[in-house]
Amino acid sequence: MFNDRVLSGMRPTGRMHIGHYHGVLRNWVRLQEEHECLFFAADWHALTTHFDESESIADMVWEMFVDWLGAGLDPTRATLFVQSRVPEHAELTLLLGMITPVGWLERVPTYKEQQQKLADRDLSNFGFLGYPVMMSSDILIYRANMVPVGDDQVSHIELTRELARRFNHIYGKEAGFEENAKAAVKKLGSRKAKRYNELRAAFQEKGDEAALAAARDLLEDTQNLSLGDQERLFGWLEGARRVILPEPRPLLTATPKVPGLDGQKMSKSYGNAIFLREEPAEVTRKIRTMQTDPARVRRSDPGNPERCPVWPLHQIYSDEATRDWVWKGCTSAGIGCLECKQPVIDAILREQAPMHERAQKYLDDPQLVRNIVADGCERARKLAEETMEDVREAMGLRYT
Ligand code: SF4
Repeated sequence: MFNDRVLSGMRPTGRMHIGHYHGVLRNWVRLQEEHECLFFAADWHALTTHFDESESIADMVWEMFVDWLGAGLDPTRATLFVQSRVPEHAELTLLLGMITPVGWLERVPTYKEQQQKLADRDLSNFGFLGYPVMMSSDILIYRANMVPVGDDQVSHIELTRELARRFNHIYGKEAGFEENAKAAVKKLGSRKAKRYNELRAAFQEKGDEAALAAARDLLEDTQNLSLGDQERLFGWLEGARRVILPEPRPLLTATPKVPGLDGQKMSKSYGNAIFLREEPAEVTRKIRTMQTDPARVRRSDPGNPERCPVWPLHQIYSDEATRDWVWKGCTSAGIGCLECKQPVIDAILREQAPMHERAQKYLDDPQLVRNIVADGCERARKLAEETMEDVREAMGLRYT
């Protein structure tokens, strides 16, 4: 709605590894070709669980941006910014916090999961309980309609949708709404206005969801409406409220899970990661020494790829013929493990060569990254401010 816009962020974790690349960054690089994209470093989110380790956040943010750029994010296509440099996120978080029932937050599945997973940390803070509200603000402040997420994050998008609905319901009231909406319909031009009215009637009288979707498409294709009129017409389709904060939808993308060198989830803190800017010799060493099927002790023992962490890497990096060669060679003891690992090493080095090249420019001149991010923050801030103007006005917080 409003604009076809993608929003996504990542907590600053410093250097990115191939798990980040295949899980997130590759998808972002693809999305920037097709949509308006905003990608941000979620530095405030890092504080919700690691408030006592804030001194390293800025360094990790810069490292992360170098990797994003190295991985192929293009600042002429995507807006790259830092969350805390757009303080409007905090303002919207505060305001949405006023209408968020605490029970909604306690029911977010990741709330309990994270508490168990990070049992060694004190997570009894207000910021941790409220982080889904901040996440909702991150999305709603850009009126982003598409949010790439994994299965585990769908509940956050659901909460965001509920909060947007609640906000529009409470604050979308407007004196003379119906008259204003009818005037806006006329601005569509006679053919589109007729179509809009028919589709609206089909939805309101018969609950025809296809008509609702068609009416939304019609509005999205209309260029000559002011934002206010657009909000009214979206709102009028379903009721008598303006839509100030449109509901986003999750953009579910199947991404491969990249195992670490020990078969566990790849993570910097587990010491089992291959970084995007790792030296080729180090990549080679790490893979050559990584674990294999524990039952394959000798070269003459047949192995089982299903029990070997190298196999998922073949599934990401190798073509069908190579995978076939691995499967047959492993289960018949026809190939050795070092032989088996070589195509993976070659593929990772091939993938990383252009990343090294792109990243080098930013390592040689760190000011380039600073400038890209400063521009991104400025662009993001402009968009955020537009939304906040509407939000403040709808809530009666305008003092002019
Ligand atoms: S041959 Fe390949 S798949 Fe089989 S155990 Fe060795 S490394 Fe793993």
